[in-house]
Amino acid sequence: MAVSGQVIVVGSSNYDRTTYVDSLPRPGETVTAQETRESIGGKGANQSVAAATVGVQVVFLSALGHDTEGTVLRHELGERGVELVDLLPGTSQRTGTAAITVDEQGENVIVVSPGANGAHLPEVTERCLAKVGERVGGDAVVVSQAEVPVDTIAQASAWAGRHDLRFVLNIAPYTDLPAEVVASANPLVVNETEALALLSSLGRAVPGGAEDADPVELCRSLAGCAVSVVVTLGARGAACLVGNRVEVSEPPAVSRVVDTTGAGDAFVGALAALLAGGRSLPEGVRLATELAALTVTEAGAATSYRVWTADVLDHV
Ligand code: ATP
Repeated sequence: MAVSGQVIVVGSSNYDRTTYVDSLPRPGETVTAQETRESIGGKGANQSVAAATVGVQVVFLSALGHDTEGTVLRHELGERGVELVDLLPGTSQRTGTAAITVDEQGENVIVVSPGANGAHLPEVTERCLAKVGERVGGDAVVVSQAEVPVDTIAQASAWAGRHDLRFVLNIAPYTDLPAEVVASANPLVVNETEALALLSSLGRAVPGGAEDADPVELCRSLAGCAVSVVVTLGARGAACLVGNRVEVSEPPAVSRVVDTTGAGDAFVGALAALLAGGRSLPEGVRLATELAALTVTEAGAATSYRVWTADVLDHV
């Protein structure tokens, strides 16, 4: 699978500290970890690394601090083939961090401290987007997630619209966004929890009830709120709505689930790269489902995207 194209990501960067435990602690409980690892993180950074690993050119607009964590992230992003456009040069704000705990089943809990990601500087963002705009092709795909201020996401959406570029919006974690921003998404990508939250904010009924909503109906019930909709379903894959048709892509059986952290970002980054490379949405969703499934067999978020070796990418 040779993929070429451009992806522009407007999103968050975090310094992840991931602790591996036998079972997740209950409130008030103390558990002893097997080990702790530090790595690149944040949905924007993860999705940028995922897209670059698939093979496209990635420009990533993000706000990092000028601290040790920021220095490590800048280096790592460069090593992973991502061109970083710094939205906060010279800031005294801290780089965002995420404290992640993963249990033996690969289940995780995450606490994010946004730091610099929480700053919105409309003039700087506009200036950076304008500079990027001077060298993007008409097939470039713009991607954003909800770990940066709503105004920044709205700016990315509007900029993509003005340049007639495809806008992929991943409302993760779930955040109320202006209807016109959601409407500009092609596709809107949400997991089941985010899909339920979005339906509730739209005042739409949840088919079959929130407990065991049918994924196809869940996807269908989001019709019309965006140009196209994708709902990721964890181990069950992903459902994609184009027009009135829902297609479900099932992931291949994986040898062992080690860590699902960053699987959603793997999916979105790979999908954006595949769309930038000219794949149709259903085809992109099918391939992204396969690629994301492979990442759960490795520890870490962006670290686990190393499973996408040239050999794997050739055979997807
Ligand atoms: P996260 O927040 O953990 O990164 P998410 O909730 O945003 O993930 P999911 O729907 O859990 O996203 O997963 C995204 C994709 O990752 C799925 O569509 C699937 O391809 C793959 N995936 C996730 N969990 C598993 C699993 N246990 N087995 C196989 N594939 C998985």
